[in-house]
Amino acid sequence: MKKRINAPASLIIIASLAGCQTTPQPLAADTIIAGGQIFDGSGGAGRNADIAIRDGMILYIGPNASSRYSAENTVDAKGLIVSPGFIDPHTHAGSDLASDTAKRRANLPFAFQGVTTVVIGNDGGGKPDIAAIAGAAKANGIGTNAAYLVGFGPVREAVLAKANRAPTQAELAKMKSLVGTAMCEGAWGLSAGLYYVPQSYSQTDEVVALAKVAGEAGGYYDTHMRDESTYNVTVTGAVAETLEIGRRADLPVHIAHIKALGPAVWGHSARMIAMIEEAQASGQRVTADQYPWEASGTRISSALVPRDALEGGLPALRERLGDPAQIPAIRAGIAAAIERRGGADRLLITGRLSGSDAPVGKTLAQLAEMREVSPADAAIDVLRMGDARLASFNMSAQDIAAFADQEWVVTGSDGSNGHPRKYGSFPKAYRDLVHGEAQMGIARFIRRSTGKTADIIGLDRRGYLKVGYHADVVIFDPSTFAPNANYSAPRALSSGVQHLYVNGVPVITGGAYTGALPGEPLLKDTQC
Ligand SMILES: [Zn+2]
Repeated sequence: MKKRINAPASLIIIASLAGCQTTPQPLAADTIIAGGQIFDGSGGAGRNADIAIRDGMILYIGPNASSRYSAENTVDAKGLIVSPGFIDPHTHAGSDLASDTAKRRANLPFAFQGVTTVVIGNDGGGKPDIAAIAGAAKANGIGTNAAYLVGFGPVREAVLAKANRAPTQAELAKMKSLVGTAMCEGAWGLSAGLYYVPQSYSQTDEVVALAKVAGEAGGYYDTHMRDESTYNVTVTGAVAETLEIGRRADLPVHIAHIKALGPAVWGHSARMIAMIEEAQASGQRVTADQYPWEASGTRISSALVPRDALEGGLPALRERLGDPAQIPAIRAGIAAAIERRGGADRLLITGRLSGSDAPVGKTLAQLAEMREVSPADAAIDVLRMGDARLASFNMSAQDIAAFADQEWVVTGSDGSNGHPRKYGSFPKAYRDLVHGEAQMGIARFIRRSTGKTADIIGLDRRGYLKVGYHADVVIFDPSTFAPNANYSAPRALSSGVQHLYVNGVPVITGGAYTGALPGEPLLKDTQC
């Protein structure tokens, strides 16, 4: 393993050496990427140039790299697009990256989309022991870089377990200290999933108190909002809460997988966008990410079961389902949630969980028909044995397009098992936005998948192709870059990424995985 040298210092040495030589000798580089069309992540137009990489950093961008540098490897990128590696601000790759299996730690579902950095810990799920998680990633090796968010969920559960109440002052102080420690250990911000139990038991004040701690450390607030539909405060009420949290805690807010979920709120994108733009005009930093799919990915329990029936988790729910007196209320709540999501024929079962016998590939409507029960009772049947993953077709194409058009919306995957978004989001966004009706320029697509995202997270010298920046680079074929995953076969690697460099090391060469694990845990440098 080569020793990593400090890039800016090495560049100065190289520059001064070059200046005093009368007959310049080619300088050493590890890799030259020659002849590609470079988009640097700033949104500027593409240009034909070469890139030289050494010791994990970008050494040179310009013409004729091979006349200036001698390199062990030269990649012919003619006809290909050279871009900063994509940065995914919302994933559920944490368990893959912590796996005992090197192949899972390679993070290939993302690498083959051109992603070189994933954020993990989203939806309020990130465990607060950032140093331990990052230390294991460093020791065992990971295929892409990972950046960490501390999650409201584990923080709240560590102090309050699953209790449905507000914390006492002492309990809140404990939660704040957990967030503070995680920020000191390198988290980039606080994530929340206020829709999910037990985070849903919190009031806004509690979240503000914790977000303040993240903000004081220079972090951001990333949220799966309390409501994306009409479950409780409605989606516009949830946007208002998010903006309030950002204002009161004085930190940037980032809305995860922005959407208007269900026919009752279709068209509400206009109001949501207006609220966000108004906040931005008053000086607030507000951004969002979006995945390019009409179906969200969820579970029967989280999508359909009333929150009070979920108190205590799935085992407690199963107990309640054993009590005939409690069933009518639960059934009514489930029926209302099915309605809210547009009906049982819009809910596709994509995976079994916890030992259920749910038929994968059937809709909840089909399951109800097979079993000759109502859709709500069919869902209850599944929940008696376990749970099931759902693709919930609940978004309108108009809302998706309206959000995609915003300059403050970036590409994300929300990649999790049982949904093609884990394997295909970036190429699908590329297909939809650049080659679809939106006619988005490729420079803008790359900007919203790289530099803009790096700026939101606050990553150091990533997200752009610039001299002195880390060499996270994707080289893809614009004519073949495409997803292969779909709802019935969600686990298919994407096509079109010819080469992928993570910290200057090839992870994909000639369209194939190299076996390398050069990803770094990226830790925010917070002075504590
Ligand atoms: Zn989420």
